[in-house]
Amino acid sequence: MPAPLHLIQTAPTVPAEADVVVIGAGIVGVSAAYWLAKAGMKVVLLEKGSIGAEQSSRNWGWCRQQNRDARELPLSTRSLSLWEDMTADIGENLGFRRCGLLYLTKNQAELDGWARWGQFARKEGVDTRMLNAKEAAQRGKATQQKWLGGVWSPTDGIADPALAAPMIAKGVLKHGGHVVQNCAARGVELSGGSICGVVTERGTIRTSQAVMAGGVWARSFLNQVGINLSQSSVRSSILSVKPGISGLPDALHTQVSSITRRADGGYTLAISGNGRVDPTPGILKNTTQFLPMFTRRWRQLSPGDFQAWQYGFDTNRKWALDDITPMEKTRILDPHPDMKTLKKTLHQARTLLPALEESHVQAAWAGYIDSTPDGVPVIDPDSGVPGLFIAAGFSGHGFGIGPGAGHLVADILLGRSPITDVMQYKISRFKKSAWGKVADF
Ligand SMILES: Cc1cc2nc3c(=O)[nH]c(=O)nc-3n(C[C@H](O)[C@H](O)[C@H](O)COP(=O)(O)OP(=O)(O)OC[C@H]3O[C@@H](n4cnc5c(N)ncnc54)[C@H](O)[C@@H]3O)c2cc1C
Repeated sequence: MPAPLHLIQTAPTVPAEADVVVIGAGIVGVSAAYWLAKAGMKVVLLEKGSIGAEQSSRNWGWCRQQNRDARELPLSTRSLSLWEDMTADIGENLGFRRCGLLYLTKNQAELDGWARWGQFARKEGVDTRMLNAKEAAQRGKATQQKWLGGVWSPTDGIADPALAAPMIAKGVLKHGGHVVQNCAARGVELSGGSICGVVTERGTIRTSQAVMAGGVWARSFLNQVGINLSQSSVRSSILSVKPGISGLPDALHTQVSSITRRADGGYTLAISGNGRVDPTPGILKNTTQFLPMFTRRWRQLSPGDFQAWQYGFDTNRKWALDDITPMEKTRILDPHPDMKTLKKTLHQARTLLPALEESHVQAAWAGYIDSTPDGVPVIDPDSGVPGLFIAAGFSGHGFGIGPGAGHLVADILLGRSPITDVMQYKISRFKKSAWGKVADF
């Protein structure tokens, strides 16, 4: 079942040419297109299905600095203010607010990890506050439980996954960008080895710059021009309950359950880090690169089924540009949630928070998370094909940092001083092993 999503109207046809074509209208693609259009570039944003319909509407909505890997922290911090700037400029509700995030634990090792992270992050200017047992019990009073301690990050927040990408796409339109839905980019045309066009199912757009922001589809697309992006996809299943429950924190993480208040007053319930790895040709090809990640996360990940294979988003196959591609066959990737996980999620949330005992399930869905071997995204203009920019592999953190990632893409394409150093996001880092490099949180 799809997650809730606000739909918007866009253009039916593609223009003949553009300064930049952005492929994929998840949070990263819409943000890149927004900043480019705002700077006066002639931008076309292509989406094979509906804007935001894949990962970007299926997530919890957390926009956090808390517990971020050092490589992502500057982008997280900057993104929080960009969420506010975009909301003000676009004049639409993205559902963003700095409500603060609450983490509670009964586990000493977890608490020690948060304390270590806090020492590093405070030097970077992040407001993160350790909670002792009494403070944790106070902030987490809805649980009616004793806690060893916790963390409170007051400047972090949440945005609404049902609203954010579509509303930012409205911002693209406001600044003169061209947005087309139900239109897959089948591939790119090269001249002398560089990009000279993007071939879509509705014709070719002449351009010298294309941004691949296709989420879990990026690996197969890039493989068409000989670029190997190491990407695995983890299927995560979550559910939401109807509005009407009071007294719960807006955003709470514990080892057994995490909850997030939705814009309609309901809550999203999930188990952090929990997911199924459905075998795909891509995972089998790059298994050794993912060993460090799977070794570290083996308690949370379990083998899935063959549904991912059938959707065709992660294939080693090359396709013809004048024929129907896998992107047209699966307009919206809507995997089946794992029923066992959903039952466990609801049970654990209700045990943690008695107020949820009377709650009614509103919806349940799953999403594939595009993960890299080290859990950090690839944001790289030097893909190996001049003119083809990669912005993918956001590894379960891309919603919160989407506005900053898009800004970084635009900075580089516009020749502006980048909001953060792009070196840590280079694709070339995967030539070395990821042992010791997997993101901590
Ligand atoms: C259950 C779950 C919980 C999560 N929780 C959080 C969270 O709390 N905080 C957080 O920061 N992150 C979270 N994430 C991760 C976050 O959702 C993603 O990192 C982020 O949405 C990725 O955005 P994206 O734009 O890169 O990809 P996507 O949102 O997947 O968008 C890619 C788009 O590209 C389109 N596309 C692909 N190929 C083509 C093509 N050839 N032509 C045209 N269109 C194409 C697809 O249809 C899709 O719409 C979560 C993810 C899941 C699944």
